[in-house]
Amino acid sequence: MDGRAVSNASDSSNTQGVPLLDLKRQLGPLRAEIAAALARVCDSAAFCLGPEVQELERNLAAYCQVKHAIGCASGSDALLLALMALDLGPGDEVILPSFTFFATASAVTRLGARPVFADIDPVTFNVDPGEIERLIGPATRAILPVHLFGQCADMDAILRIARDAHVPVIEDAAQAIGAEYDGHRAGSMGEVGCLSFYPTKNLGGAGDGGMLTTNDDRLAEKLRLLRVHGMHPRYYHKMVGINSRLDSFQAAVLNVKFPYLDQWTALREANARRYSEMFVAAGLERTVGLPAVGPWRRHVWNQYVIRVPDGRRDALRQFLAEAHIGSEVYYPLGLHAQECFRYLGYDEGDLPETDLAAKEVLALPIFPELTADEQSLVVRRIAEFFQRASRGHRLAGPKYLKHPLARQNLRRPQP
Ligand SMILES: *Cc1c(COP(=O)(O)O)cnc(C)c1O
Repeated sequence: MDGRAVSNASDSSNTQGVPLLDLKRQLGPLRAEIAAALARVCDSAAFCLGPEVQELERNLAAYCQVKHAIGCASGSDALLLALMALDLGPGDEVILPSFTFFATASAVTRLGARPVFADIDPVTFNVDPGEIERLIGPATRAILPVHLFGQCADMDAILRIARDAHVPVIEDAAQAIGAEYDGHRAGSMGEVGCLSFYPTKNLGGAGDGGMLTTNDDRLAEKLRLLRVHGMHPRYYHKMVGINSRLDSFQAAVLNVKFPYLDQWTALREANARRYSEMFVAAGLERTVGLPAVGPWRRHVWNQYVIRVPDGRRDALRQFLAEAHIGSEVYYPLGLHAQECFRYLGYDEGDLPETDLAAKEVLALPIFPELTADEQSLVVRRIAEFFQRASRGHRLAGPKYLKHPLARQNLRRPQP
């Protein structure tokens, strides 16, 4: 999800601090199974798009409720391939949120098309459908919602807008495998869905990998061609594609991990619920903004992201770091404000909710193996920070407590 090296911090007996993510706790118990699967790939010598890849494609097509799942080299490539399959190019516009990982937008610009950035809902952090309605125009060739942090965007509204405008929807489901909107899985609602197996994602490989999902037979066939340079049969090229094959090694690791995915998601959900209870018990639910789950959603909690108002986010992050508690800022700058997209002509202030979220968000440890004691330590340290911060200062508190969704976190009467 980001360029930073994946943390392998601390072992589970570490009572000093809490890592943002500790992959070793997940991989430890699976080590023998994974080693055996990798040995099988070695013995078969089918290293690219081998039988392991086909098995993973079958598993994930069923899991994501789609007819076709097509492996590729990364989530970033999945986005690029999806837009290539729609024949996107110069003069075309794609509407997407500015508050997302870079790859959502770079897939658009790499094809010479123009990203049109939409602002977000401040409580779910997902694209605001009203913004899509405002921005849609004759050059719009696709809508690209992102299911950020593991929660589906407002797909009812987005699909209705798309249908009325006869524009396809590509879902960036890189953070949201297994997430649901009204019973529909992430990646099954638009024309194409894009998954990532980067190690920090809910189903993470031992390196890079990605997957495309679709119910459209024609698009599926095109995507299968595009990922192998448009080649069929061998050395005859029907179209100009890219090299984006999924390694059999990655697929082998993912096939071992896949049966545990729902179990891990349940643990993430339990951790999220426990955090919210702990924040309320500590009296912090009007001091920070707690994450909320929208109606008809299954949130899979790739990240648990709070809002830290009053300009104190970076100070809190520093305070936690000194207490050896990992946290991260996803994302510190909206894409509309990135240096490489200056040519698009956006000004600071064009997307106010994105700009404010970028200043306030803080992701806390939420991985499945996180313990209740560790969560308690995280919340105690945050309480400590605000006790110090409020001394001699009046804190305004988060801006969005009256948002209909935010109310679900306010269990105590207003003081
Ligand atoms: C991780 C991520 C991607 C890119 O996936 P990679 O596999 O890292 O290329 C795209 N979009 C979002 C929202 C992501 O979090």
